[in-house]
Amino acid sequence: MSLSLEIVDNLCGFSLAKYSTWFYYKPDNLLLDVGEGVSVTMRNMIFGINTVLISHGHADHISGLPGLLSSRASSMGDTEKAINIYYPKADRNIAKIYRYIKETIGKVPYEIVWKEISPGDRLPLSGNRYLEAFASKHIDNTLSLGYKIAEERNRLKACYRDIPQKELIQIIQSKGKKEITETYTQNLLCFSGDSMPLDQETVQSSEVLLHDATFLKLEDREENTHATVEEVIQLAKASNVSALCLFHLSARYRYQEIIEGIQQYLAKYEMKIPVFLLYSFYSPLSFKKIQ
Ligand SMILES: [Zn+2]
Ligand SMILES: [Zn+2]
Repeated sequence: MSLSLEIVDNLCGFSLAKYSTWFYYKPDNLLLDVGEGVSVTMRNMIFGINTVLISHGHADHISGLPGLLSSRASSMGDTEKAINIYYPKADRNIAKIYRYIKETIGKVPYEIVWKEISPGDRLPLSGNRYLEAFASKHIDNTLSLGYKIAEERNRLKACYRDIPQKELIQIIQSKGKKEITETYTQNLLCFSGDSMPLDQETVQSSEVLLHDATFLKLEDREENTHATVEEVIQLAKASNVSALCLFHLSARYRYQEIIEGIQQYLAKYEMKIPVFLLYSFYSPLSFKKIQ
């Protein structure tokens, strides 16, 4: 299985615009957003979550937090395992839910670490991987974030790629391995949160782009707060991603209408990469492969 398909295979969640959005990414024990229904759906798998990454403070992305934290204190599992909650700096709704949780859930047997996060902040993950926050484009005058998991890798410098093995060994012996190699960053998973289309530079060559695709038709968008399916397909094509996952579709569309709409744009832009949809009206937990 290719790396991009493996990443999609490890993602599960729920997403429907205005109702709830959350994704669990098992390899790094991350929850991306925490909309309603996380603990009800995941049950004792919630103990696998080490880190919650919140994109912004709209209710459909944070309302599962009280249930998650309360279930982790009392259901079957490691009730002493700490949880980290990262959220956009100075988000007023998160400050309110923080106070609500403090007052209603009170003392829990585990540590809750709340941390504000800003664009460019990085968190180390295992191996050579790290997580980086970036600014998304959702609410005027309020910071909203997207997150990407990236990996530092080494490769042979372009100028040495056609040189025979024997000569390379001689160069390594005389000048050291650093002479012939360079480090580069590979984006693995890029999550937009709720957003207008992200910049091409942010998502460039990601293995998987997980992007807001609220609208099928541009005329349905009243404010510049969410992306259209067409915009995201154009972005995925221009930035050379390996697989695309669409989420946050509006419940105004019928399922068949969505599938046909997506297929029409895939044909228009001659997209050949795997494309997935999470439209939780009908398939609540896993992405459906469209192409
Ligand atoms: Zn939303
Ligand atoms: Zn929102």
